[in-house]
Amino acid sequence: MSQAKDQVPPPRTSMSHLITGVDGYVPPDGRTASELFNGDTGLTYNDFLLLPGFIDFAAGDVSLNSPLTKRIQLNTPLVSSPMDTVTEGKMAIHMALYGGIGIIHHNCDEDYQAKEVRKVKKFESGFILDPVTLRSTNTIKDVMDCKATRGFGGIPVTENGKMGSKLLGMVTSRDVDFFGEHEWEKTLGEVMVPASELVVGPEGSTLKEAHVILQQSRKGKLPIVDEDFNLLALVSRTDLKKHRDFPLASKDQNNQLLCGAAISTRDEDKPRLAKLVEAGLDVVVLDSSQGNSIYQIDMIKYIKGTYPDLEVIAGNVVTASQAKNLIDAGADALRVGMGSGSICITQEVMAVGRPQGTAVYKVAEYARRFGVPVLADGGITCVGHITKALSIGASTVMMGSMLAGTNEAPGEYFFMDGVRLKRYRGMGSLEAMSHRSGASAQSRYFSEDSGVKVAQGVSGAIQDKGSITSFIPYLITGMNHGCQDIGCTSLTKLRAMMYSGELKFERRTHAAQSEGGVHSLHTYEKRLY
Ligand code: 5GP
Repeated sequence: MSQAKDQVPPPRTSMSHLITGVDGYVPPDGRTASELFNGDTGLTYNDFLLLPGFIDFAAGDVSLNSPLTKRIQLNTPLVSSPMDTVTEGKMAIHMALYGGIGIIHHNCDEDYQAKEVRKVKKFESGFILDPVTLRSTNTIKDVMDCKATRGFGGIPVTENGKMGSKLLGMVTSRDVDFFGEHEWEKTLGEVMVPASELVVGPEGSTLKEAHVILQQSRKGKLPIVDEDFNLLALVSRTDLKKHRDFPLASKDQNNQLLCGAAISTRDEDKPRLAKLVEAGLDVVVLDSSQGNSIYQIDMIKYIKGTYPDLEVIAGNVVTASQAKNLIDAGADALRVGMGSGSICITQEVMAVGRPQGTAVYKVAEYARRFGVPVLADGGITCVGHITKALSIGASTVMMGSMLAGTNEAPGEYFFMDGVRLKRYRGMGSLEAMSHRSGASAQSRYFSEDSGVKVAQGVSGAIQDKGSITSFIPYLITGMNHGCQDIGCTSLTKLRAMMYSGELKFERRTHAAQSEGGVHSLHTYEKRLY
């Protein structure tokens, strides 16, 4: 059978068609985001890849500037999750220093949560506001335990073992190292350097003044005290040496670090919110696993009416119709994800949820019409997932497991089978629910006062990841390189390329996913940075 005339390809006269096709024509390749996500199957990050673009700029030229909410812009699109094993003051300070933001959890009483917010807002780089402190009745063994779990350079001893109470002395390695194990029951009162022999800095000292005192006294640590000798902060010589600028830091107009905190949608949390606002809160997250509720809509309206300067992140949602109600109520951003978190069992227990890629795309595609940014929450396990979330419409990503297990996460390290670990648990796990009063956080997962609690999360442990001072720069560099490979110089461009259809994606089969990971090796070491 002869071929129809119009199907015969034109004659080729040179090899150039192998590169550009005939007359510069390049055949279409890949799928647009709309084609990828408008099928009938939910997809998640591992189900697709981005096709590379053209590089004519350095990775360092990429701008990661992106909106968290309608009015808050971040230099780094990273947010730490409001979980009690992820974000308290220390994590939030470090997230903000690197251009992101931390959301302080609410599985604690309201004064504690407000104190953590205040730590962030009052943070001055170089001053340690929450050092380990002990009482004079603690023993050398307690110091040795601290050394094993937190590292150790010198511990202030105060009247009640806490910050803000009278400084009685300091214990350093020099004071305890020469005691044999049989003497570890000695109390710190017997071995510490007493307050009368300490060099201290007065309240209100600047970092520069503290530096001078440390240099002159040749000490490693300088306690800062008020006129009654109550301990306010500690300045460490090694920290000062490491002290550097944080050009990306997220700051408000008063030059204070940005801070977020979560509350529930219950009326009982209105006084909690008042305390958080008084502490300087910039953005509140309404913490609810299914955010499309009358309680949340009422709470958004209340907050917008009472605190017009406070930004509200509503959620969680995974569909456009859920998003609509929260946007109509006045939400300044939406938190997207249901059951995709590493510790979640929501999809298993509640039969409800959505694969995270589809959830992010669908909600972001709807919310952008109203200028409402979307935060992709949960399911991020590597830096490539962050770039993928941002490439399908998210403006920022929220992480739990990626940041748990770092020095800045709450909790102590412990050893199991020779591995150094920290606890990480779902806020809907029975363990987290039974912690303290937990009333505020409980309402995220247990909306009714039912007798039987149905857990929506698990509790476990995660390996020591070191400090986020190394990890976040790695994530930033990874995102820069991802954007460079895609061929876009900013996250704003990335989203524009995606919505115009210029950015191309492709589905991955299981086999392609195996091929894309390490394979065919007998042994290997995976070091990321
Ligand atoms: P990850 O980054 O570890 O994958 O997920 C963290 C996210 O999981 C959190 O930001 C939060 O949205 C969600 N999450 C936290 N605890 C629980 C829980 O107990 N159950 C469920 N379903 N989700 C949780």
